[in-house]
Amino acid sequence: MEQCLKKPKLDTSIKEGETEILVNNANVFYNPVQEFNRDLGVAALTAFIKDIQEQKTERNTKKEDGITVLEALSATGLRSIRYAKEVKGIKQIVANDICAKAVESIKKNIQHNGVENLVKPSHEDATLLMYQSRKNKFDVIDLDPYGCPTIFLDGAVQCVSDGGLLMITATDMAVLAGNSPETCFLKYGAISLRSKACHEMALRILLQSIASHAGRYGRYIIPLLSISVDFYIRVFVKVFSSHIKCKENATKIGMVYQCTGCESINTQPLCYKKSTGGYKLTSSPYVDQLCKICQHKQHEGGPIWLGPLHDEYFVNNLLCNLDNIKLGTFKRMVGVLNVIREELNVPLYYALDRLMSIVRCVTPPMLIFRSALLNAGYRVSYSHACKTSIKTDAPNEVIWDIVRAWEKNNSVKRDKLSNDSPAIKILNAPTTTNISFDIHPLANPISRLNKLTRFQQNPTVNWGPGTRARTRIDLENGVESSKKIKNQNKNSRKEKAHITNDTEEIKSL
Ligand SMILES: [Zn+2]
Repeated sequence: MEQCLKKPKLDTSIKEGETEILVNNANVFYNPVQEFNRDLGVAALTAFIKDIQEQKTERNTKKEDGITVLEALSATGLRSIRYAKEVKGIKQIVANDICAKAVESIKKNIQHNGVENLVKPSHEDATLLMYQSRKNKFDVIDLDPYGCPTIFLDGAVQCVSDGGLLMITATDMAVLAGNSPETCFLKYGAISLRSKACHEMALRILLQSIASHAGRYGRYIIPLLSISVDFYIRVFVKVFSSHIKCKENATKIGMVYQCTGCESINTQPLCYKKSTGGYKLTSSPYVDQLCKICQHKQHEGGPIWLGPLHDEYFVNNLLCNLDNIKLGTFKRMVGVLNVIREELNVPLYYALDRLMSIVRCVTPPMLIFRSALLNAGYRVSYSHACKTSIKTDAPNEVIWDIVRAWEKNNSVKRDKLSNDSPAIKILNAPTTTNISFDIHPLANPISRLNKLTRFQQNPTVNWGPGTRARTRIDLENGVESSKKIKNQNKNSRKEKAHITNDTEEIKSL
């Protein structure tokens, strides 16, 4: 306690949750826009620990002394210190960074926050540290790199305990969203496609990469929560050991086909499981060379994760626990998690405005389009990743039947459409489904009725993953500046240009 009274002399400080971080040079990475990301880490870790404690109580093998956590790329130590102060049931957290200046900062912040008993600083190459920890595994590993996390995955899947948790962020969204599929293949082992569903595709590419790495060591993953927010994606997955279960990867991972004309999506797993046991190959090609809907060519992407993105039980637990945790981004978190809770377990989605722009037709209200799907006997939900998303188990043919039915009352001038355009092929095709646009009682989701903050507008000033440590964190203006960034001021054209620059920068990495 005496040590705390003697605070080191530093330029400025940042407060987040119950933690105060000292910053005295411009070489340490701190991104205030990521408060939501760190809040989510606190909430997820709390729910994870609560769950294993309850399970262990049932088995009478309760681990009294708590769990171990590795933050492999710790930078300021903020995240580790927040875990130490805000999450109960942790035995030790290792806050590691390869940069000597960052480790100095971590040490000062541990002392400043009085968490020496829980947080241990470490100055090591993250990969090496994880390989060295294969015998004494961690229960939780948090990887929050700048850009792509895949170079750390081989170590991470080996040094997390059985039933342990990986929390992994990726910020190289341009690569994951189809801007350079060849780079995505190098980094993630999958071809990304330009698609309105690119944010979910990014999540599924990352999950596929984690599952593939885990499979090499006889381990398999269960995604608890997969989230796309702002400029990054973050997944929370449990890792288990089983040489039999990990073979199911081939049924949970598959290819994705997207039409170059109407953008209709089809997915196919790499293998099917036989009812008698064993696996069988799928027949190929899965889709016709020309799209059934609009007679245009198809693009093939993937492989991507086709299994569930979230675990219903975990998401419910997370929401139930939120009231017991003090979080700066509480309101947003409740909104996003409620949308996630309503999400259908169906790969990818369409964007309503894009569907209608393909046929050059005015866009119907979301409520009307969702009602038409429900009236036709199918399920529909939003995706948390897109405000205009239509996630449904309806076949592509039914979706286009609805578009055609809407166009009948909102007609498009055919003479302005070229004969080989997807629009003319779609609009001139016969409709086979009976479509009703009567409002369906379930068309308005509960999260919308409750007026939750379901889709956050993009944060703007300094929006993006920032740049690597050394050049980022300009805290010359002190706390006020960081507050301004955190409050995420409204857009301006200039700021939008800044976003583009950020994205381009990631692309070039
Ligand atoms: Zn098509």
